Amino acid sequence: MKIFNTMTRQKEEFVPINPGEVKMYVCGPTVYDFFHIGNARTFVIFDTVRRYLEYKGYKVSFIQNFTDIDDKLINKANEEGTTLKEVGERYIKEYYKDADALHIERATCNPRATEFVDEIIKFISELIEKGYAYEVDGDVYFNTKSFKEYGKLSGQNLEDLQSGARIDVDERKKDPMDFAVWKNKKPGEPAWKSPWGEGRPGWHIECSCMSSKLLGDTIDIHAGGMDLVFPHHENEIAQSEARSGKKFANYWMHAAYLNINNKKMSKSLKNFFTTREILEKYDAEVVRMFLLSAQYRTPLNFTEELLNSAKLSMDRLYNSISNLENLYDEVKIEKLTDEESKSIKMIDEYKEKFESRMDDDFNTADGISVIFELIKDLNININANSSKELIKYALDTIRKIGKPLGILQKTTKKSIEDEVEDLIQKRQEARKNKDFKLADKIRDDLSARGIILEDTKAGVRWKYK
Ligand code: AMP
Ligand code: ZN
Repeated sequence: MKIFNTMTRQKEEFVPINPGEVKMYVCGPTVYDFFHIGNARTFVIFDTVRRYLEYKGYKVSFIQNFTDIDDKLINKANEEGTTLKEVGERYIKEYYKDADALHIERATCNPRATEFVDEIIKFISELIEKGYAYEVDGDVYFNTKSFKEYGKLSGQNLEDLQSGARIDVDERKKDPMDFAVWKNKKPGEPAWKSPWGEGRPGWHIECSCMSSKLLGDTIDIHAGGMDLVFPHHENEIAQSEARSGKKFANYWMHAAYLNINNKKMSKSLKNFFTTREILEKYDAEVVRMFLLSAQYRTPLNFTEELLNSAKLSMDRLYNSISNLENLYDEVKIEKLTDEESKSIKMIDEYKEKFESRMDDDFNTADGISVIFELIKDLNININANSSKELIKYALDTIRKIGKPLGILQKTTKKSIEDEVEDLIQKRQEARKNKDFKLADKIRDDLSARGIILEDTKAGVRWKYK
């Protein structure tokens, strides 16, 4: 399996630190509002990476943090006359609602900055002791010059960065590129006690601290959206490697943007749709299909047409699944016949083809195309003369390869509960129309299936005999 590593700018064979295990850290949301469908692209992509690693048999430790100490939360809390804690807790709840609705699997752990302040203080103290960070007037800065490899992820050196940066007027810093790991308390801000006075952690330090605390000094995969390469991930590397003296992450993965009119969808540009708004109009599997319709390093443009075409594609796939499920009920032959072994081989070949596309740096776009090819072939090859065993094998394979993408997991068959409720409804209507023959027939048919109806004052109830 190959992964494009931002650090080396090439696809590399994936070799985990411990065989069969993957330690993965993804930078999570700043919880001051609902997340938009651009954020959702990054979350769904790394959920898919995690699911595919699990599909391949790896045990994945998947950490995604919640940034709940940040200017945006502080401003919101002050505007609303509430606390940072309340704002954070509210939007973490909202995050779970939308993420669950999008079938994003729950992380192994979602650490929050507010829960890690003591650990962050210890981390910063170590950096100061080792000479990588210094305190000025209650602020603590990381000294970028002291970390020789600063800039290696984004492929820039310190001189390039300095000449590209706006002149920083803060003369208390040793170097203009130095960044804050601890910020002195300002009026109206929440603060925590530290050896440098009351204050709060900077943003970058939380990920370095949580990653090492929860997964160890060196992890397999560190990931996030493209905008995090610089400065966030560059700074994480500097802090982590300066402290531990070890490589921070073996593979760096970055997801391209979801754009709208060819501009990055973002809160600040106000050109966004919340995930919640989109999920009101489209099924979660349709949204995932749209978000995964491009390989993750390719920008994707958000349009209603693309979402509608994802819906049409999904309808086509489920139409075929529904045909297969109905055929399964109807066909007479139980066991696989001799001629059908080539159909099994054909199905297996599509599964292997799907895996080869996904093994190539998680090419979901090509993976989805393979699913369409498989379905097309099944439509031609499976019919009323097929065996139940073959049809089941086909349906199981579709579900199996849909799972890492988080699609095709539904059955088109109604649950027994829904079906019985529908029949009860029909029976009530028949009685209202004085069609007692039909009403009795529905009751008898249900009885033949072991279900009895009871007419009560509160309505019709049903139970198994
Ligand atoms: P934030 O809450 O702004 O820190 O963002 C959470 C995650 O969403 C980060 O990994 C960002 O890189 C990512 N992200 C933000 N905007 C977009 C976008 N338009 N397309 C894809 N990912 C994004
Ligand atoms: Zn981070």
